[in-house]
Amino acid sequence: MIIFETGKISENIYMLGHPVSPMYLVDGQQPIVIDTGFTFMTDIYLKDLKQTLGNRRPAYCLITHAHFDHCGSTAGLKKHFPDMQVAVSELARTILLRPSVIKTIRNLNQSVGSMCHDLGIQVPNPRVFEPFDIDITLCEGDVLRPSDQLSIQALETPGHTWDMLTFYLPEQRMLFASEVLGIPDATGYIEVSCLVDYDQHVASMKKLVDLDIDFICLGHRGVYTGLDVAPYVEKAMGDFNDFYKTVCRFLAEENGDINRVMQRVREYEYDPKPKPRHPELAYLLNLEARVKVIAKKIYNSAHE
Ligand SMILES: [Zn+2]
Repeated sequence: MIIFETGKISENIYMLGHPVSPMYLVDGQQPIVIDTGFTFMTDIYLKDLKQTLGNRRPAYCLITHAHFDHCGSTAGLKKHFPDMQVAVSELARTILLRPSVIKTIRNLNQSVGSMCHDLGIQVPNPRVFEPFDIDITLCEGDVLRPSDQLSIQALETPGHTWDMLTFYLPEQRMLFASEVLGIPDATGYIEVSCLVDYDQHVASMKKLVDLDIDFICLGHRGVYTGLDVAPYVEKAMGDFNDFYKTVCRFLAEENGDINRVMQRVREYEYDPKPKPRHPELAYLLNLEARVKVIAKKIYNSAHE
């Protein structure tokens, strides 16, 4: 099954907000939320949390990586739930202390403010991204327990970013994959966004695929379950490989001109795609990094 609506995913697990910008909730005596999406979603998450938890409060907020669309509502949530412990990787903590990063995250969230119309979401008050305090840092193998029956394991999975954590819930064979296994667009094409290191990203994908998985909760655009898990993973790997080969060919044909390669990629990968799609500014920032990572890999392979 492919779940593309908010609500219950399985026993004690929920998708809140909107499938394009989801916040996942693992309920228990110590409820845990995973990722806090766009800043404009803050009030929607708060409403959904209240509906699911009543007067109870999230105990932990785990953030997979320091990108604007994964930590956008953290400050708003923390204001509402001051006892909630915010947890990120050690590297994400360092990154989120930089004023230039806060400025970029704020600008990117500002740039997607109008996206709420595309998503059919009514936002009561416009919000501006604010920095937030980090209470805990997590590394490979750390475990949090939302209840006696459930555990959430942190996995270090660099490649999309260096600070990337994914989370695995072994009792339900559920993976919160963030962006490591790609994000499907409205046509079914899966964009695997490797922004910092090609080989590390491939290793991270393999590490996740080797887990026992019945549910893949993506960082955007849905949850794949049961018989839909294996085909999703296979397509993600295939589309990633095709992207790699296409960029290699474009780089050769354009004599390494990154801007020309970016133009040719967006002409097939972005321009013809229906909305809601990746916000343009973020897409272009990512695309430049994705092309450069492959150019670097080709250069390194040639000089080994
Ligand atoms: Zn990201």
